Amino acid sequence: MNVHDSEKIAGIFSEVGHEKSVDTGDADVIVLNTCSIREKAEHKFYSDLGRLKKAKTDNPNLKIAVAGCIAQQEGEKLFKRFPYIDFVFGPNNIDSLQKLINGELLSTLKHQQSTFIDVNPDYPSMIFPMKRAGGVKAWVSIMYGCDNFCAYCVVPYTRGRERSRPSADIYREAEKLAADGFKEINLLGQNVNSYGRKLDEEIDFPELLSKLHEIDGIERIRFVTSHPKDFSEKLIKAMKDLPKVCNHMHLPIQAGSDKVLSLMNRKYTYNEYKEKIDLLKSNVPDIAITTDIIVGFPGETDEDFRLTMKALSEIEYDGAFAFKYSRRPGTKALELPDHVDEDIKSERLASVQKLQETISYKKNKELEGKTLEILVEGSSDTNEEKLTGRTTTNKIVNYHGERLDIGNMVNIRILEAKQYSLYGEKI
Ligand code: SAH
Ligand code: SF4
Repeated sequence: MNVHDSEKIAGIFSEVGHEKSVDTGDADVIVLNTCSIREKAEHKFYSDLGRLKKAKTDNPNLKIAVAGCIAQQEGEKLFKRFPYIDFVFGPNNIDSLQKLINGELLSTLKHQQSTFIDVNPDYPSMIFPMKRAGGVKAWVSIMYGCDNFCAYCVVPYTRGRERSRPSADIYREAEKLAADGFKEINLLGQNVNSYGRKLDEEIDFPELLSKLHEIDGIERIRFVTSHPKDFSEKLIKAMKDLPKVCNHMHLPIQAGSDKVLSLMNRKYTYNEYKEKIDLLKSNVPDIAITTDIIVGFPGETDEDFRLTMKALSEIEYDGAFAFKYSRRPGTKALELPDHVDEDIKSERLASVQKLQETISYKKNKELEGKTLEILVEGSSDTNEEKLTGRTTTNKIVNYHGERLDIGNMVNIRILEAKQYSLYGEKI
């Protein structure tokens, strides 16, 4: 989500003729687009910010802006701790950058500190210029904010209440992407399958998918993230019936113990979750499923943790992002008793990762010898001639080929499975 917000920020700058500078020493403005989902992300920001103090001393005309979730969370407090910051704007106030540019605040030599973190009711209907990375696949925001208040999570506090974008705006954006040659769209929201709630129009997420499916030129549709409690049979049917909707579902489980799930305020039990997964697997047989896991949530005992490991073994995800529980300001989980020791969290994280690596590798191995269609996205980072693309199930496939393939669907016979990717030859 932050990557896409940065595309909006870069878009606003490029519209008025600013370009991305090669290094910070050349920049007139530096924007730090921050994440506060876990403590580690915050630490990274504070150390980057510390380094910029010298840049400001070297070039007093340099403007430093802090955007994103830490901006929203800390607001004016940031100026007290770091007086060399010029602007602070939250994730629902990216449009304030336009005001700063129009008001010539960016070019004035005076150090004027401004903060933009207020509720911004018009934000969901704003259309932003965007400077997108790549030309094959694109992020499309369909909703902002979150109303779920999972006990560990800072997002509802930093990104505000859930609001959906009007479907006509989303449709127009996707049509323009198709006209510009993009082949894949990835619909973005904290809880995409509650799309449409609170909108004036009668539409839900599966209906939005059907609508976008009509657009010629868009060959693939993905979405992140879905919440298990809102994961409906109607969505399963849409995934089954709409060929452009990819065979991949990211459905964060977080934990396998009902006690922990309840403490987390996730609003489903393991069995309810598992039933939905089974229904999905039986309707869309080749579906790949990935998840997020938190280990060491307050109150998680060895037995609770064993249930998370059991869930991983039973469901056999294609991949999982696992995190150690991290204390976040203002969240309910802070007040819970029995916070788990850091050492235990590390051990549990290592166990989850080890088990998942074995399962992911086994699943990749099953693909050796098969022919899979991929959308070629570009050359792989390390080797120019090595092209890279993804299967509908979101597996990375590398092969040696011609750059002309970029943007096309090609068939690849899988020769070798690796831990995080597949290697094959074009047929
Ligand atoms: N809205 C999405 C994404 C939320 S953030 C969802 O509900 O899935 C992505 C992931 O970060 C979450 O799924 C969760 O696993 C993890 N996460 C969020 N807050 C966290 C915290 N305080 N500590 C550790 N992991 C956290
Ligand atoms: Fe955070 Fe839960 Fe909302 Fe996801 S659904 S953003 S984890 S509060």
